[in-house]
Amino acid sequence: MSEARFPRGVFTLSLDFELIWGTLDLFGTDGFGEACARERAVVVDRLLALLVEHRISATWLTVGHLMLERCVGTHPEVVRPSHRWVSGDWFGADPGGDEATAPLFFARSLIERVRACPVPQEIGGHSFSHVIYGDPGCSRAAAESDLDALVAAASSMGLRLTSFSFPRNVVGHQDALRARGFEVFRSPEPAWHRGAPPLVRRLGHLADVVLARRPPVVMPRQEPDGLVSVPGSMIYFPRHGLRRLLPIALRVRRARKGLRDAVRERAVFHLWTHPTNLADDMEDMLGGLGTILAEVGALREQGRLDVRTMGELRPPEAGAA
Ligand SMILES: [Zn+2]
Repeated sequence: MSEARFPRGVFTLSLDFELIWGTLDLFGTDGFGEACARERAVVVDRLLALLVEHRISATWLTVGHLMLERCVGTHPEVVRPSHRWVSGDWFGADPGGDEATAPLFFARSLIERVRACPVPQEIGGHSFSHVIYGDPGCSRAAAESDLDALVAAASSMGLRLTSFSFPRNVVGHQDALRARGFEVFRSPEPAWHRGAPPLVRRLGHLADVVLARRPPVVMPRQEPDGLVSVPGSMIYFPRHGLRRLLPIALRVRRARKGLRDAVRERAVFHLWTHPTNLADDMEDMLGGLGTILAEVGALREQGRLDVRTMGELRPPEAGAA
């Protein structure tokens, strides 16, 4: 084994926090409006309580628009992407207003709750308006102006962001991140079906879960552009559609395998999800996540596992323990 390893296994939890912005271009405000309303009303608080209970510092990769105090809904500062599945203006559904009048579009008070969590949480970025950076319809100017708007929104809350995840995990224009202070981003899982046609990928992922196949453990990698990439290991995915049929215990079993491998290989088990993903069957989904986090806590007690946020991940020095 030539690659340097960590002194112990590492667990990292990253959360893409986006409310309605994550699905607006696909399903409008109706598609996930109810789930997002539950996310705002209860999921975020319950999730924070779980993180406190198990003393887990997570990374909240947050859509910049949620950080705004208010807006007028037009955003001339953002160069529009031209995604082929979107007709009309990119901000056409943005009603403007504030958290009280447009609660699915703004979330400053929730971000403040994350920031006030007694177990420190990291706040990172997930674009300003969920532009798909790696899509051909996202020009350089579109990506840069979206990033600039994200950084401005964050600094209006006194936040300096260093971690990033790409909307839909589609990597693009990553060299624009470094110039804006970002240091680490989440890259796609190194799954066997990555790069296959969408249906094969979907079925492949289902098979991984049904068979509780061991998820990959990963290492942070220094990229040529100065950023560090950290692949995801496993998504804790929602109970929608076909996935409803899969008992949560299977997700938990897979995660346990990942944790054991992280300990054995002194590498990272990087679990990720969206708080929205917990909104359906919330008690069961939170219960499953709680079981995983309890296991993390037990392994940490035994001195076999560290918990790190994305911002705390760097490739270990060669020759280190
Ligand atoms: Zn707006």
